[in-house]
Formats: sequence, C-alpha cells, structure tokens
Amino acid sequence: MSHISGVKKLTHSSSLTSAALPRFGVKTEQEDSLARELNDLNKWGLNIFLVAEYSNNRPLSCIMFAIFQERDLLKTFRIPVDTFITYVMTLEDHYHANVAYHNSQHAADVTQSTHVLLSTPALDAVFTDLEILAALFAAAIHDVDHPGVSNQFLINTNSELALMYNDESVLENHHLAVGFKLLHEENCDIFQNLTKRQRQSLRKLVIDMVLATDMSKHMSLLADLKTMVETKKVTSSGVLMLDHYNDRIQVLRNMVHCADLSNPTKPLAVYRQWTERIMEEFFRQGDKERERGMEISPMCDKHTASVEKSQVGFIDYIVHPLWETWGDLVHPDAQEILDTLEDNRDWYQSTIPQSPSPPPDGPDNELESCTNKFQFELTLEGEPGQDLHANTRLCVCVCVQGAWI
Ligand code: AMP
Ligand code: MG
Ligand code: ZN
Repeated sequence: MSHISGVKKLTHSSSLTSAALPRFGVKTEQEDSLARELNDLNKWGLNIFLVAEYSNNRPLSCIMFAIFQERDLLKTFRIPVDTFITYVMTLEDHYHANVAYHNSQHAADVTQSTHVLLSTPALDAVFTDLEILAALFAAAIHDVDHPGVSNQFLINTNSELALMYNDESVLENHHLAVGFKLLHEENCDIFQNLTKRQRQSLRKLVIDMVLATDMSKHMSLLADLKTMVETKKVTSSGVLMLDHYNDRIQVLRNMVHCADLSNPTKPLAVYRQWTERIMEEFFRQGDKERERGMEISPMCDKHTASVEKSQVGFIDYIVHPLWETWGDLVHPDAQEILDTLEDNRDWYQSTIPQSPSPPPDGPDNELESCTNKFQFELTLEGEPGQDLHANTRLCVCVCVQGAWI
C-alpha cells in the first residue's frame, strides 16, 4: 500500500528536441495517412481506430499532441514540448494494450470527443483555459491502468484495489492516482510552469471529473443536469450563462461523462467496433467469474448475452436520456449527434430477431416488454405486492456491470 500499484518505470530514451520532433508527436511511416485522418480533429466523426493504425498504435499521444497544438495549450501553460511528449507516451504506456476496450484508443476517443464538445457554440468562451486544460487531461487519464474488469468484480474478489479504496469508486480513484503520479516521472511534469493556485484548481477539477465517470453516479449526475436545464439562462447570442464555479464544473463533469458514453452516437461503423470490443472485455470478465464459481455479471455471459438487445437497452435507459438532456442544455448544437444516436438505436433494434407472436400492446405488457428489451437488468422499486402500474412515480434502477445505479 506504500506505493500506487501499476506505475511502471519506463524510459522514453529518445532525446526529443524540437528539430527531431515528428510532425504529429509520434514516429510513423504513414504520416500522410495520419494527416488525412487528423483533418477531422475537430469533428464528431473522427475515426480513432485509423489514427491508432497510422500512429504506430499511439492514438492517445498523437491526439493529445494534435489537440494541445490546435488549442495552443503548450504556449499558454508554458509546457515544454519534450516534457509533454514524454508524459503522454508514459500515460499511454500505462493503458493496457491487451485489454479489449479500456485501452488507450478509448482514452484517445474520450479526449477527442471532449475536445469537440468543448467547442460547442452554446459554450463559446464559457470556460477558462485552465478548465479546458483540466477537462482534456481528465479525459486522457480517466481510465489509465484499467485492468479490464469492473468495480463490482474488484470488490467481489477482494482485490488489493478494492481494499485500497474501501470499495468506493475503486477504479476511478485508481485512474486518478496513476494519472497524477506519472507527473512525477522523469521529465513528465507538464504542469511545472503553472502557479501553485493553478495546480490546485486543476487538480480539484480533474478529480471531480474523473470521479464522475463512475457509472454508479450516473443517475444523480443526470438528475442534476436536468435541474440545470430547467433553470438555464442564455445570453442574447445563445451562449449559456455559467457564472458560478459550481455550474461550470457541473457542465464539465457531464461533458466528460457524455464523451465516455458516446460510442452509440458515433458513425455506425465506428460504434459497432466499440461494441465488439466492450463485449469482448465483458465476456472475458464473465469467463473469470465462471471459473471462480461467481455469479456472472449482466452482459458478461458469452453463452446467453444478446449483444444487440444490450445495446438497445444501454441506449434507451442510459445513453439517450443523458444525451437528450445534454442536447437540451446546448440546444440546438447536439441535434446531429442525437439523430445519429436514434438511427443507430434503430439499426441495433432491427437486427434483433423478432419473436413469432408479439404480445398485444397494452399497459400490462409495457413493463414486461421494457424489461425484456433491457439486458442490463432492471428493477422497479416498490413495496412487495404493490401495484406498480397504479404508481405514478416509478423509480427505475439499472444494473450496469453488476452494480445498481
Ligand atoms: P468507463 O468504464 O469509464 O468507460 O465507463 C463507461 C461505462 O459505460 C463502461 O464501463 C460500460 O459499463 C458502459 N458502456 C460504455 N459504452 C458501452 C457500450 N457501447 N455498450 C455497453 N456498455 C457501455
Ligand atoms: Mg472508467
Ligand atoms: Zn471510459
């Protein structure tokens, strides 16, 4: 417990001088192809898988370098370029390449998605440079050293990590600890020229955003976002008025959370690749649970899971409610994203084999069809024997990867 597990000693021996610096921060034989993909840097449709392919599998280093250059953050915060490259490469090396989903491609995807959301017109000039720096850094570190299993798995197996963090946001606490600890490695302190106060506020912002990526916080995050939408004020040019720190951090934590849950809003071909990866990771966890005689987590049993139904459920109960609320907040900026999400949902729905005799419509079948659709697991809160349909306010609890949210 005296050290943060997972922090490895790595040396990026290359002496990076500005003269020797590759155009995109990473060594590659396919610089032209990489340049073509990076033309989409500011777009929602950027293909991070191709960025990974053309950058020698260094999508995170490459995208961070491109974004920081695009936003001129190296100059603003006087970050030496060699320190920046050393840090992002070290960070990237602490993502597990053999984990199917939570690897550095996912981190790069969430960082680039956050970068696009930060530029949404409704938030024009709302955030300070430090808040922008914090959001991008949070996205980049938000899953570092992810072992490919869920918080619930780590808790149920009495892992060292669960012990370390007393079962509370185990992974998210660990990602933060590793992300910050790596700044102490040789030539890695990208925040060396920030004032003490800037470092303190950046740290507070980053901790807040990464802890908010814990799915067990999803429902309360969404409830607060809805309240904000109901009371939102905009300027005459349609920009959100977020004068208080608490309002700005609330938008930022939801922004990174939206970016983390953005797979189903991406072009279908890209979304399908993410689905394949997350299911592979879930099934590996399910195999481990089976081997240990544990109960297999929802969606993790390769013998029974329905990939398509899981995605429709994930969209209907988690992703769409979140993105719809984000869409209301930044209206009309997210319209295209919502349209893609709805098309993708319908595509997955259309791939579910239809049952030969669908039950007739009616209120009594509503509950059944909704639970059937939803493969995460769903429970409706109420007293035993209570007529749920007579209840005007149903509380829907959703179980994601074995944890109720
Ligand atoms: P993170 O683990 O930080 O990436 O948090 C996001 C969580 O949302 C994941 O762990 C999954 O539980 C869930 N999630 C994200 N994308 C998908 C997806 N395409 N299908 C199913 N679950 C997903
Ligand atoms: Mg995470
Ligand atoms: Zn993530």
